[in-house]
Amino acid sequence: MQFPVEAFASIETPFYYYDVELLKATLDAVKREAAKYDGFHVHYAVKANYNPRLLEIVNAAGIGADCVSGGEVRAAISAGIPAGKVVFAGVGKTDKEIAYALDSGIFCFNVESVPEIEAIERLAAERGAVAQVAVRVNPNVGAHTHANITTGLAENKFGVNYEQLDGVIDVIESMPHIKLIGLHFHIGSQLLVMDDFIALCCRINELQELLHETRGMVLPHINVGGGLGVRYDAPDKYPIPDFDLYFATYANNLKLYPGQQLHFELGRSIVAQCGALITRATYIKNGTCKQFVVVDAGMNDLIRPALYDAYHRIENLVSCEPDGVYDVVGPVCESSDVFCKDRRIPATKRGDILAIRTAGAYGEAMAFGYNCRELPKAVLSTDLNM
Ligand SMILES: *Cc1c(COP(=O)(O)O)cnc(C)c1O
Repeated sequence: MQFPVEAFASIETPFYYYDVELLKATLDAVKREAAKYDGFHVHYAVKANYNPRLLEIVNAAGIGADCVSGGEVRAAISAGIPAGKVVFAGVGKTDKEIAYALDSGIFCFNVESVPEIEAIERLAAERGAVAQVAVRVNPNVGAHTHANITTGLAENKFGVNYEQLDGVIDVIESMPHIKLIGLHFHIGSQLLVMDDFIALCCRINELQELLHETRGMVLPHINVGGGLGVRYDAPDKYPIPDFDLYFATYANNLKLYPGQQLHFELGRSIVAQCGALITRATYIKNGTCKQFVVVDAGMNDLIRPALYDAYHRIENLVSCEPDGVYDVVGPVCESSDVFCKDRRIPATKRGDILAIRTAGAYGEAMAFGYNCRELPKAVLSTDLNM
């Protein structure tokens, strides 16, 4: 990824910069690798980045959407993504969100509890509609990643546990306005080794066998969620994740029944590397034991370091000086407003432009206005005359 540093000079910071060419190349790779297998379908996890202009690029690639709120369903449909390619997950879907999704004609609700199923039944009945649902099953597979981004353990709030599944299917089968079409799973995020995905495949295989034996049931759709990680440490070496390995892992380990369709919900792996948070050094501040680069971006613009202890590469786009060692910190009145500690970057002076890399996923989408700060703007590479 190349930064148009000269063009940046006249743009107010902080802002998110998106390399459209890299996003398109990433989407091409996802589509090409998934297309190697019959019945593989990719849905973009909108929560990773719902910037409407990026959603339009995602839509142009022809992939579907995975949404976790009514607002995301609306954003996906506004970007042109056909409702028939939209899936809707989440433990807390409100009546209003369910009604909107039903009226929009989405493909599938990934349902997470019996009371939710009852709410969908009632709202679908009012409309004389039949809602298609997949049960989100908690596979009790521990994604070896940060505790705040594991979702597939029995203790997590997501999905229904194994032991409950039979009862949940009984409930669905008693409901005339709900049609069970699949099973849904999602074990966590930022997974770089395939072991946890293989463990998930094994759990799904067992579960499918059990359902087949005990109920004679084979559902047409299996949805394995997302979670493929990206290399925060080396964005230029690994600009596009290894989708080849990822899809092959499922193809080799998951036993699908004839005709079964396999759905993926990829967020981070599609948008993370194409985005960077561009910021200026406001001050260089010398403490007694630290040197601080105080930048004009804060935790409100990119919360991942504060929330997950996440590592982001930070580059000084204008300095070629020998390295200094700095804590790069934001202006927000919180001690956790720190992007990195004791990091070696080229000696930095007031006004230098820095790039916080691999910020396209869960960056802009998680921005907020604490301290009356303006939300960060977005600049696409295609906005600039280069
Ligand atoms: C967040 C989420 C995803 C996307 O996860 P990534 O790690 O960004 O690929 C997919 N499915 C569900 C249900 C999610 O909550």
